[in-house]
Amino acid sequence: MTIDDRDSASPGIETVVVNGLELANELREAMSKQVSEIVANGGRPPCLAVVLVGDDPASRSYIKGKQRACGRTGMESREHLLAGNTSEAELLALISELNADPGVDGILVQLPLPDAIDSNRIAEAILPEKDVDALHPITAGKLLSGRAELISCTPLGIIAILDHCGVEIEGARAVVIGRSNIVGKPVSILLQQRNATVTLCHSRTRELAKVCREADILVAATGRPEMVKADWIKPGAAVMDVGVSEVDGKLVGDVDFDAAQGIAGFITPSRRGIGPMTITMLLRNTLTAYRARNGV
Ligand code: NAP
Repeated sequence: MTIDDRDSASPGIETVVVNGLELANELREAMSKQVSEIVANGGRPPCLAVVLVGDDPASRSYIKGKQRACGRTGMESREHLLAGNTSEAELLALISELNADPGVDGILVQLPLPDAIDSNRIAEAILPEKDVDALHPITAGKLLSGRAELISCTPLGIIAILDHCGVEIEGARAVVIGRSNIVGKPVSILLQQRNATVTLCHSRTRELAKVCREADILVAATGRPEMVKADWIKPGAAVMDVGVSEVDGKLVGDVDFDAAQGIAGFITPSRRGIGPMTITMLLRNTLTAYRARNGV
């Protein structure tokens, strides 16, 4: 179904709230079968090394979720918890060990890092073939030239959701709000590679609401709670809400979710939307890295 077909049906659009968790579970199940096959054929399971510096509770909970997902898929995960006052040199030394360890397929350093550590230097220290978070400049360059095997997890998750929902990307007008290296830039490249016409917006974009209203596919990745209002959304649009903010103890996205009902064709909720798909794509990247490194 194209977004234009849905347009002609509006008003009275029935917004589909995308169940990202359900899709994530389906994909994890398929990966779990692949891992079982590898192990049944005498291989070791793929292994993800997760590094956390400091004891930020949110980061701790993110890495626990990632490790739990690894375990459920039959993959191994190794946890490296470093004190908050770890120096850049110490972290680089650990990365060098993990790079050299043949039993480690993927390395993920949980962000944000303490101010004393330069996250760009850390990203550049990870071997590109183990760069499952896709932050190394070589990985980014491969994405630009359409040759990447490891691709940023959240953007991969967004494309998988659009495909699952049957949203036609080719020829669609896509607007991405936010230009981070981890979400906004890579998702705009992926959408463009799938032949969407993409506009990448940021905090200096003029007439943002008007630009968004033209979008068949709208990706919001700013971290500004509910900044995307109902009248920013084209009727029938597929709205991918990446943002996660806590307001009065409640998780909210970048899009005014309630107001978007009856206007958006598809929308991802702030819980059980993009998040589970991001973790799933981390598993996918770990499996991809394993296969490439072991030739299976
Ligand atoms: P980020 O590095 O925090 O950057 C935010 C981007 O939003 C910047 O490009 C900024 O523009 C833009 N922006 C900020 N205010 C804006 C405004 N008023 N109008 C237009 N653009 C504006 O971004 P991020 O790391 O991609 O994170 C974005 C959000 O997604 C956060 O809430 C994060 O927690 C969430 N996230 C969720 C997942 C998930 O799996 N669910 C994964 C990753 C991120 P400038 O460049 O001009 O400053």
